[in-house]
Amino acid sequence: MKKLAIAFGSLSLLLLNHSLAAQEKPLALLGATLHDGQGGTARKDSVVIIRDGRIQAVGSLGELTIPDDAERIDLAGRHMTPGLVDAHVHYSQTGWADGRPDASDQRITHPYPETMAANAAHPERFHRAFLAAGVTAVFDVGGYPWTRRLGDETENDPFAPHVGATGALLTTFVPAALQLPDQQQFVLMADEETARAGVRSHAAFGSDAIKVWFIVRRNLPIAQSTPLLYAVADEAAKHGLDMVVHATSLETAEIAVDAGAKLLVHSVDDRPISDEFIAALLENGTAYCPTLTVAAGYHYLHSSELSTELQVQLESVHPSIRERALLTMSLTARFSARNVKGNAMRLQMQAETMHENLLRIHEAGVPVVMGTDAGNPLTLHGPSVYPEMEAMQAAGMTAAEVLVASTKNAAKAMGRGSDLGVIAVGRIADLLILEDDPSADITNMRSLLLICRAGILHKREDLLNW
Ligand SMILES: [Zn+2]
Repeated sequence: MKKLAIAFGSLSLLLLNHSLAAQEKPLALLGATLHDGQGGTARKDSVVIIRDGRIQAVGSLGELTIPDDAERIDLAGRHMTPGLVDAHVHYSQTGWADGRPDASDQRITHPYPETMAANAAHPERFHRAFLAAGVTAVFDVGGYPWTRRLGDETENDPFAPHVGATGALLTTFVPAALQLPDQQQFVLMADEETARAGVRSHAAFGSDAIKVWFIVRRNLPIAQSTPLLYAVADEAAKHGLDMVVHATSLETAEIAVDAGAKLLVHSVDDRPISDEFIAALLENGTAYCPTLTVAAGYHYLHSSELSTELQVQLESVHPSIRERALLTMSLTARFSARNVKGNAMRLQMQAETMHENLLRIHEAGVPVVMGTDAGNPLTLHGPSVYPEMEAMQAAGMTAAEVLVASTKNAAKAMGRGSDLGVIAVGRIADLLILEDDPSADITNMRSLLLICRAGILHKREDLLNW
């Protein structure tokens, strides 16, 4: 952190005069090494001109003419990337147990209705944490109906990411503990007609996609749920909406893709994928969001422990979230010491399957998308993108490939492929300035200095000043 603070001195001075009101003047970002989100060779000594929140020109120092009235910011020696996109988040969850009483019941001290009401009333806590982590767009793939209003609310808010939202999940199973008496975040697909009706209602209320929670239980055979998925896909297509599916086994993921899912928001984690499955992903144009690290959060919750990584992350979330997460250590552990070890081993084996599947899918040319499942216990909105990207790199993707998955591909998966995710002329000017080279090691995304949200520059430390 010390290194950051010192290196940042000159930038602080430069930014002193840059205010929200300075927006009418074009902004000239000069000299950074540009990683544009498309995976090609980085451009050294770049120039990016921003006007009215959009990228007006991209070129090189000495070649591109800089408008006379531009506010110039010298970024020599720094790196520039598009803003990150987290394509798998939930604003209806808190990042701790109080949002998931089905996993760890803390309702006596943290009543669920109050917790959910606070989430609806104060989404800015998560907005700011996302932005401070360099996340300038997110896809909320399942939650209470109010999540659908976040898109309009945030689109022109310089202190929030762009938000796409699916609204309530269409599901084969409703977890009663995650449902409010007066509001549904799960809509049961009792039969094909109710599944179709669910899609029509989502379309009328402006959902950005249709999310299906495809859960298999002992008393709910796959054969019974399969026709529902095809009905949803058919109805969604009629309304021009993509189908996003939670399916974690190879069998359910295969059905989801065959039915027409455009985005799978979890890894296949039960066995190695088949060549047929890869072919189906390619043929259907399905994107794959591996969501590698969410299970670790549950592991720490049930172990009543916070990893060093989590303790670092807690420095960059809202104090109310930090306070709750810290309660983890005083919970009665669900796991005994032996359980902790056993579960860690199980997770390790599952991670190996997920990593191998990810690498095969990626190498076959299927678009891979970064997403965290933020909101689940100890998967924090915002900083959880770092371990997620690092896990993708550990699985065998190069840092540059992880960056594409976390920008261009994730933007496309949330339906914003034409205006977000890439630094190019005409795009919304969402971009990041880093101290270190993210294409050398994706860990360098943590050296974030500045966040530009539609042409408005924020110092990271300012966003953390709650
Ligand atoms: Zn999720």
